[in-house]
Parts: sequence; C-alpha cells; structure tokens
Amino acid sequence: MRLAVLKERRAGEARVAATPDTVKKLLALGVTVAVEAGAGIGAAISDEEFAAAGAEIVADAAAALAGAGIVFAVNAPDEAVRALIAPGTLLVATLGAASDPALAPALAAAKIDAVGLELLPRITRAQSMDVLSSQANLAGYRAVIEAADAFPRGFPLMMTAAGTVPPARVFVIGAGVAGLQAIATARRLGGIVSGTDVRPAAKEEIKSLGAAYIGVDDEESAKQTGPYAGQMSDEFRKKQAELMAATVAKNDIVICTALVQGRKAPVIVTSEMVAGMKPGSIIVDLAAEAGGNCAETVPGEVITTANGVTILGHRNWPSRIGVAASALYARNLLTFLTTFWDKDAKAPNLKPEDDIIKGALLTKGGEIVHPNFKPAA
Ligand code: NAD
Repeated sequence: MRLAVLKERRAGEARVAATPDTVKKLLALGVTVAVEAGAGIGAAISDEEFAAAGAEIVADAAAALAGAGIVFAVNAPDEAVRALIAPGTLLVATLGAASDPALAPALAAAKIDAVGLELLPRITRAQSMDVLSSQANLAGYRAVIEAADAFPRGFPLMMTAAGTVPPARVFVIGAGVAGLQAIATARRLGGIVSGTDVRPAAKEEIKSLGAAYIGVDDEESAKQTGPYAGQMSDEFRKKQAELMAATVAKNDIVICTALVQGRKAPVIVTSEMVAGMKPGSIIVDLAAEAGGNCAETVPGEVITTANGVTILGHRNWPSRIGVAASALYARNLLTFLTTFWDKDAKAPNLKPEDDIIKGALLTKGGEIVHPNFKPAA
C-alpha cells in the first residue's frame, strides 16, 4: 500500500506529517512512502534526507496521491488536493472540522475515509497519538520564548554593580497542556510566575511547578472536573473579571491559553485591562486562532497598543517551532497507524467499536460517521 505525505498548502505552515525517522518505521509496516518534493523544507528536512530514509520523492501532490491508499497531512487538504484523492483513501490529519462546517460533507462526498486527530478522546491509550497535546506543549514553550524576545527588559532578577534589574512578572491564563509548559518555561527563565484556570485540578498543577495560583474558587469552578472546561456562567465571569483586572495590571507578561472545546475562546483580558498595563508589557495570545482570550488581539498579527502593550496574535503557534512540532506530530501519526494496522493484510483496520476510532473517525464510505458532525435528521 502506498502512503502519501503532502507539502502543506496553508500559508506560513512549516510542519510536515512525516520525518525520515517515521518514514523508516512506516516502511517496516510494509507500505511504500511517497513524499511531495519540498514537503519537509519548513521543518528543516531535505528531499535527500527523506529519500535516504527510503521515501520516493515525487514532483507534486498529483504524483504523490496517484495510487495512494493512505494520506498523512498536518492540515485538512484544500479542495484542489481533495479532488486528487481517490475514493476509499484513508486521510489522517488535524482536520479542524469543528471550525469548517463544509469540510465533513466535502470529505464524505469525495468518499475519503477521514480521521481528525484533533477529535481523539483524551484517554491514556490515545496519549501517544494526541496531536493536541504534543503541539500545545511546544506552543506553550514557544509563547514564552517569543514573549522574552519581545519584552524590552529580561526575565531574571539581575543584581549588578550598576544596579538591579527586577524579574519579569508572568501571568499564565489557562493551565492545560500549553499553559503548564508556559509556566515551566517562564520559571526556568527566572520570571515570577502565576497561573489561573477554571478547573480545580489545575490549582495543584500550577503550584507544583512553583508558580502562584490565582483563581475564583467557588461552586461553579469546583464542578469543572472533566478534562475540558465548560462555558462559565455570567456570574462566574464577572468574579473572574474583577480578579483578572487586578492581576493583569500587576504583570509584565500575560500568556493566554484558555480554550473551550468546539467554541470561540473566552475573552478574559478586556480592552480596559490592556489599557491598565504598563508600557512595554507583552500579551501572547495562544488562543488567537479561536478568536483570542484578549479583546485587543488581532488574529494573525503582532500589534502595539497606544499605551505601548505588544500583543502577539499569531494563529499557528506550533508551526513557529516547526522542526520539533513536525517530529512529535509525525510520531503521533505513526503511532495511530501502527495501532490500527493489520499486519497480515498490510492495511489499516479502523475497528469501529474502538473508542479511539469512535472519537476520531469523521467520514467513512461516503458518509459522515462522527455523531457530532452528522447532519440533523
Ligand atoms: P484546552 O486547550 O482545551 O484548554 C486550555 C486550558 O484553558 C484548560 O486547562 C481549560 O480548563 C482552561 N480554560 C478554559 N476556559 C477558561 C477560563 N474561562 N478561564 C481560565 N481557564 C480556562 O485544554 P488542554 O490543554 O487540551 O487539556 C485540558 C486537560 O486535559 C488538562 O488537564 C490535561 O492534562 C488533560 N489532558 C489529558 C490527556 C489524557 O489523559 N490523555 C491528554 C491531554 C490533556
């Protein structure tokens, strides 16, 4: 069976869905791998390195997809690429179907069997193929590195003969995978770090990294016991806003990572809070792709407000650390395929009763099979 690895079409996308390391392991499963020329350049992988690992380098998407039974990609293929994918092909990618209502029907119409890895259940068995976690972890690190670069002072306390430079105060909003990595990174750089989340479980996690916990402890947050936060009530949001206003004003750097699955990101840092920050302060909005946690964020742009606050609103944070992000992403995809690989048939076997497949399979045999995306009866 032939597996195609495509060059990503999304503007500014540096990542690629395979590496020479995963190509070797894919070949060991008994597939042949076709890589579109230049697919790895953004991730610092040359065509020669892919070829040395045993991949066939082909000129374009059409050549990669000709005869392919499996396609690995980072983002959902666009219409032009979809038209080149044969019916019955397995596509494994981060599809983003929740934010693109036309995608699931289009994949079903093209009879592509599509797995959206962003839909994987957050269960222990799925952890090694969990692209949301692997990419969020790197994004959290990158957010702090870019904040440090943009911040005109420095992170650690510096006591010199010429005087003392105070440490940066860093506040991390949302302590999931990205937020906890941001806290750890900011601590390593020497900042004074605090964090907040609505899930009570996050409180101990924030503290265990040596950061101060700041949060509204009430009945409503006590109910946020699942892996994801729910949408909070207006009353909770009012209490949270008062606490945030006081906290944001005291900090030099605010890293926003709060997301609510399948919804627009909650706006937590208001325009008034931004106006209350000191000149030279930095806001990094990792939620920019989902609308942003800061009211002043312009998704896709870096802006400086009238009072001198710089807001980094890049949309695709994992791509900004593309070499590491590709390495982990490619391993996630390899693990997915290996888990559902029929060694005798040398073909994938997506067992419909498996919780991972139930969670991540979007379309199959020309139908939308995922319950969340089925058209209303
Ligand atoms: P996420 O990206 O959906 O959200 C990021 C964080 O923002 C979450 O911690 C969420 O609680 C928080 N948040 C949402 N609304 C907020 C608000 N109004 N104010 C403050 N914070 C808010 O989450 P994630 O990083 O993907 O992971 C969430 C949880 O799932 C974590 O506890 C993580 O450890 C867990 N997880 C488990 C597994 C597994 O068991 N396989 C895998 C991955 C993640």
